[in-house]
Amino acid sequence: MSAIDSLPPLREVIATHGLSARKALGQNFLLDLNLTSKIARQAGDLTSCDVLEVGPGPGGLTRGLLAEGARRVVAVEKDARCLPALAEIAAAYPGRLEVLNADALAVDWAAHLTPPIKVVSNLPYNVGTELLVRWLTPPAWPPLWQSLTLMFQREVAERIVAPPGSKAYGRLAVLAQWRCDVRIAMTLPPEAFTPPPKVRSAVVHLQALPAPRFAADPGVLERVVAKAFNQRRKMLRAALKGLTPDIEDRIVAAGLSPTDRAEQVPIEGFCALARAVAG
Ligand code: SAM
Repeated sequence: MSAIDSLPPLREVIATHGLSARKALGQNFLLDLNLTSKIARQAGDLTSCDVLEVGPGPGGLTRGLLAEGARRVVAVEKDARCLPALAEIAAAYPGRLEVLNADALAVDWAAHLTPPIKVVSNLPYNVGTELLVRWLTPPAWPPLWQSLTLMFQREVAERIVAPPGSKAYGRLAVLAQWRCDVRIAMTLPPEAFTPPPKVRSAVVHLQALPAPRFAADPGVLERVVAKAFNQRRKMLRAALKGLTPDIEDRIVAAGLSPTDRAEQVPIEGFCALARAVAG
C-alpha cells in the first residue's frame, strides 16, 4: 500500500479512534488507499465538481476523492465515532471537506452542494437501495447530480444493469436504465474490506441522461414497476390487478398483452403502461 496523502495509514486511524466495525451500520471498511483512489477515478474528472459521499466511515474513499482532486466533498456519516478521523482529513485539505453527522435518509444534502455534483459512495447495505431509488426518482429530470458511482453487493449491482428477460431484471433495472447509462465499473472480492463481507461487491457507474429514454411520470412508473415485479412470475393482468379497475384495457392500450410477464417487458413497454395508467 502506498500513501496518497500525508495522513496516517487507515489501520492506524481505526486503532487510534477505536473504530471497531458495527454490523448494524453496514460497516465494511476499505483500507487500501490505492483502491479507494481507483474507485474515485471511476467517477471521471472531479476537479470541477462537488462530490456527495454517503457513509465515509474512517475516510478511505474520502481521501481517495480528495487526492483525485475533487473540488469539494460533502460527507454524510451517521456514526459520530468517525468524526475525529474525518476532522483530521478536513484539516489536511482546508476548505474542501464538509462532514455532516446525520442519517443520509433524512439530510437535505442538496443544500450543502453546488452543481455540478457527482455522488460517489461505498454505501451501507441496509440503506443503499433506498438511497438509489430516491436518487433515480426525482419529479424533474435531469437531476441535481451528473453521475452516481456506487459500491453495492454484487447481486444488487447486477440487478441495476440487468437486461430485459434476464433473471436479475426488475424494478432497479427499469428505474436506473430509464434515465441513465449504467455499467459495472469494478468488482471487488470480500478480502478488499475490513471486516470482509460474505459476498462479492461491485462498483456501478450511472450517468444521468439529459432526458429519460421514454416519456412517463416517475411516480406512476415506480408504482407500476413495483407491482409488476412483486409477483414477477405472474402474468401482467394478475400482477397488476387492482392498479386501476380496467387494468386489462390499459395493458392492451400500452401495446402489451395481459398474458405478458413483467420480466419480458422492456423499459419502453413499462413507460407506455405508466402513460396508459396515468391517462
Ligand atoms: N466509506 C467507508 C469505506 O469505504 O471504508 C465506509 C463504508 S461502510 C460500507 C458504510 C458507512 O455508512 C459506515 O461508515 C456507516 O457508519 C455509514 N452509515 C450507515 N448507515 C448510514 C446512514 N443511514 N446515513 C449515513 N451513513 C450511514
